[in-house]
Amino acid sequence: MAGELDEYGMVLNLSDVKHVIKREVTSQLDFSYLNEVWPEFAYTLPTTEYLAKVIWDRLAPYLPLVKIQLFEHPELWADYLGNAMEAYLTISTHFSAAHRLASPRLSYEENCEIYGKCARPHGHGHNYHLEVTVKGVIDPRTGMLADLAQLQAVIDDTVVEPFDHTFLNKDIPYFAEVVPTAENIAVHIRDLLHEPIRQLGASLHKVKLIESPNNSAEVYGLVSSTSENAAAVALPQLATV
Ligand SMILES: [Zn+2]
Repeated sequence: MAGELDEYGMVLNLSDVKHVIKREVTSQLDFSYLNEVWPEFAYTLPTTEYLAKVIWDRLAPYLPLVKIQLFEHPELWADYLGNAMEAYLTISTHFSAAHRLASPRLSYEENCEIYGKCARPHGHGHNYHLEVTVKGVIDPRTGMLADLAQLQAVIDDTVVEPFDHTFLNKDIPYFAEVVPTAENIAVHIRDLLHEPIRQLGASLHKVKLIESPNNSAEVYGLVSSTSENAAAVALPQLATV
């Protein structure tokens, strides 16, 4: 929700908000069989993304909504921003890999100057957490913006399986020349996933790669189908790796 701060320092009175959410949503859904609890689900199945949309519709008359975020479990959630049948679905996953931050075109001293400890010759490892967000239009019958099993398979087959337990610099050809910083890995994952996700009828919205508790990178989807023309935005939150 969003709004101006009132004289009491609040956007909204939290207990009023909780009361509305409980009255309009949670008290009705809790311990219910979703397919039968609300008439909205008689035709369109209650997927996470469609449930988020319907919760928005039911709360919007009472609350200044900006976004509904609904977690099915900690590794799958939907975001709905109030735009007709458009929604976002995020799958969270992880892989473990080693890398060395050093350009083959620079001397060891130059690489140490730029990348610090990350340039040490034999590499080091990370447990990478990956969040892939796709955007699409909810199918009015299935309630899905993309087939979840196929989406999971694309991420597993294209990224997780090829990257897991590798030395990125040597095992992934792309990183023979490109230094595998979190930003560059996120860009490469975005480029690998763009077309397979498009073939599932959705579009890749965002790749977030969390390299360590200290740093992560976010890259947004390509605006056109030609990767040469599209700009990538990487936002490292902290440069220490
Ligand atoms: Zn590192």
